[in-house]
Amino acid sequence: ATPMSIIAGVGRAAEFGVLVRDADALQRASTLSTLVFDKTGTLTEGAPRVVDVLLFNGADMHTVLRQAAALEQGSSHPLARAIIEHAALPALPEIDQFRTIPGLGVSGILDGIPLLLGNPPLMAQQQIATGAVTQQLEQQAASGATPVLLSAGGKIVALIAIRDPLRKESISALQRLHKRGYQLVMLTGDNEITANAIAREAGIDRVIAGVLPEGKADAIRTLQQQGQQVAMIGDGINDAPALAQADVGIAMGGGSDVAIETAAITLMRQDLNAVVDALAISQATLRNMK
Ligand code: ADP
Ligand code: MG
Repeated sequence: ATPMSIIAGVGRAAEFGVLVRDADALQRASTLSTLVFDKTGTLTEGAPRVVDVLLFNGADMHTVLRQAAALEQGSSHPLARAIIEHAALPALPEIDQFRTIPGLGVSGILDGIPLLLGNPPLMAQQQIATGAVTQQLEQQAASGATPVLLSAGGKIVALIAIRDPLRKESISALQRLHKRGYQLVMLTGDNEITANAIAREAGIDRVIAGVLPEGKADAIRTLQQQGQQVAMIGDGINDAPALAQADVGIAMGGGSDVAIETAAITLMRQDLNAVVDALAISQATLRNMK
């Protein structure tokens, strides 16, 4: 191997806004078979908006939005921002015993009432019945929205549907990657029905959904054990272990510092076409060395 041409490849990548940590990373990027994408903030804009609020058990809209937004004050999740913005309240009350449950949601007590806000698995874990809202959950998810449930005093009082549109270049960039022969996988903590709806729109081959943050690296390891050479493309703190486990970790520009520190490749452009550039440059560089 001539290190000179690798150095030239790293330089060429930089011209395209692709920062490659070392020669090894460029080499590994030339032999990948599978690309695993985080959903939120990588395939999607990562700027979710509330699109629907359904009420149950005699709840009223003001109370529900006040409870939900108060809970989300303590969360840094993108869904939290969407709920607080939608509630648009001038002041929010303090929550007692606030807790974040990673990959599931948040909980706490307001005015003496125990509250839970998160996905159906969170409600199942806390033994709150969701049978009465199953149909609405499936309907929202099938349309590509993420449904989160609010329970107050042990009863479901609201379903909040949140939508995070695909990045404008996702469909075309994934098409280019398909043409180059990669298997495309989506890895997400979101529910399977929503994930499948978004994957179909984006042109993803395979969905791994409902994965808790600590399970993302395991999912990458499983693909590797099946003989795949895997790149993980992600932006979040949650993605760091998976970025480290992958043969090549690729961090989206504008993502969390932890993701960027962990990844072998960082995209300075917040554009999935930079993934295509990075992989094309690595293949061209390694081809020239043979
Ligand atoms: P992702 O892989 O999409 O980043 P996460 O693991 O962060 O997913 O979250 C998975 C799911 O957990 C979300 O889709 C949501 O249903 C639920 N969840 C997590 N945090 C919150 C929160 N602060 N408020 C409401 N729901 C949440
Ligand atoms: Mg993300």
